[in-house]
Amino acid sequence: MDMDLIRNFIGGTWQAAASGRTQDNLNPASGAVLGKVVASGADEVAAAVGAAKAALPEWRSLPAPRRGEILFRAAAILRRRKDEVARALTQEEGKSLTDAGGEVQRAINCLEFSAGEGRRSFGQVIPSELPSNLIYTRRIPLGVVALVTPWNFPVAIPVWKAAAALVCGNTIVLKPASSTPWCALLISEILAEAGMPAGVWNVVFGPGGVVGDTLVNHPDVAAISFTGSNDIGQRLYALGATRGKKVQCEMGGKNALIVLDDADLDLAAAAAVQGAFYSSGQRCTATSRLVVMANVAAPLLAQIRERTEALKVGDGLAPGVQVGPLVDEKQLGTVLKYIEIGKGEARLLCGGERLKGELAGGYFVAPTVFGEVSRDHRLAREEIFGPVLSVLAVTDEAEAFAVANDSRYGLSSSVYTRDVGRVFRYIDQIETGILHVNSPTVGGEAQVPFGGLKETGVGGREQGTTALDFFTEWQSIYIDYTGSRRTASFY
Ligand code: NAP
Repeated sequence: MDMDLIRNFIGGTWQAAASGRTQDNLNPASGAVLGKVVASGADEVAAAVGAAKAALPEWRSLPAPRRGEILFRAAAILRRRKDEVARALTQEEGKSLTDAGGEVQRAINCLEFSAGEGRRSFGQVIPSELPSNLIYTRRIPLGVVALVTPWNFPVAIPVWKAAAALVCGNTIVLKPASSTPWCALLISEILAEAGMPAGVWNVVFGPGGVVGDTLVNHPDVAAISFTGSNDIGQRLYALGATRGKKVQCEMGGKNALIVLDDADLDLAAAAAVQGAFYSSGQRCTATSRLVVMANVAAPLLAQIRERTEALKVGDGLAPGVQVGPLVDEKQLGTVLKYIEIGKGEARLLCGGERLKGELAGGYFVAPTVFGEVSRDHRLAREEIFGPVLSVLAVTDEAEAFAVANDSRYGLSSSVYTRDVGRVFRYIDQIETGILHVNSPTVGGEAQVPFGGLKETGVGGREQGTTALDFFTEWQSIYIDYTGSRRTASFY
């Protein structure tokens, strides 16, 4: 498959879209055209759902350990092609090659973890009130599942959803973000090479408003697993509910890193800079708010500023680059808009501009820190999804936790302290799905549930064994082996 024109992957073959329309796939570091991708419509969605439906009976009846073997092979192929996939990811999405390598490794880990679930997706044997009566439960697949995914983790997110869905016996139609089709193409190649039967995995490229909506409305799609913005996710959730579908949405974040006055400030400063600026702040778990006790704010901010100004920004493929561009012009516009809002609300400590000179051809923004932010500022409340860190000073631990919780979102958080009592009060009081103690707000492991509280997440956790709860239904089975007629237990 070449990159000149990326086509849909339906029923095991690469297929053009009937409309003949295409969209350019751009490198955000330079604006160079990497290739083109088809822009599909309702017909292509119908074909992909049809292929997934046709492949379902055979795939769901394949024993789960055999399904897992295909995923293990996919993990091995992805490991072999790790550098190639990471380079594609950097060129298409912009993150540094180091961050891209980390993302691909996460995808490998997810494949391996889910592959193992093929041997472990246990049910229960449940005691009966009646003699000679066996009751057990088992998981069954949902059917055809639609995955709708964002551009910021275009390898890991489709893979972590797909690996869990596939091992459970579902077939898939993926609608990836329009700005990262190359990664979806590579995932398709790898699954095909691993021996995934035709029709089990399908990909349709095209605008979200057309392809995404058509998928959610399709009567043969049983469930939707979405990751992306709240605007779209909440709409899809409502739409899915009216169609009686199972829907899982992982959405925005406004993650806080809390630094208490007994913290190791070196560690905290390094974590803040890594969490806020690596991947250009375009991570759902990125550190967006720094909540610091006022009596240590000055030395901490001095360190953060020094580390931020030393970051190497540039094309993610260049050696030593730590911060790449924003993904596209729209995202650049959003981030620059918030920087202007911030200049009116708070105090700019560093950054605060689009980078010019040799970086003028790409969507680069200087890593930016705002001080003197208060909890009612837009900087403190709205998801920016770019390299912007807002610093909120507080007087004590209680205020720190209250400020951290003062958000509609609840994905990730972190505390820096050496006091064990403070650690456990943080764990007891903070309203996020992921909590870190003395480590950055970013990062996670494949075997651990992932997702947020409040308006961040709805419909159940991804990854870990909890992912199986979304991608399966339970059946309860009663077997009477008395061989005689008897009344039911409730008579
Ligand atoms: P987005 O604009 O909501 O897009 C996500 C996906 O939905 C894309 O595939 C998009 O397609 C599609 N879409 C757009 N409009 C649609 C519609 N009307 N119906 C159905 N699908 C539609 O989000 P994004 O900008 O790609 O990603 C950034 C957001 O994702 C941030 O808010 C971030 O916090 C969130 N995120 C959350 C997590 C988490 O686990 N909580 C992880 C990563 C990212 P097109 O690309 O064609 O528009």
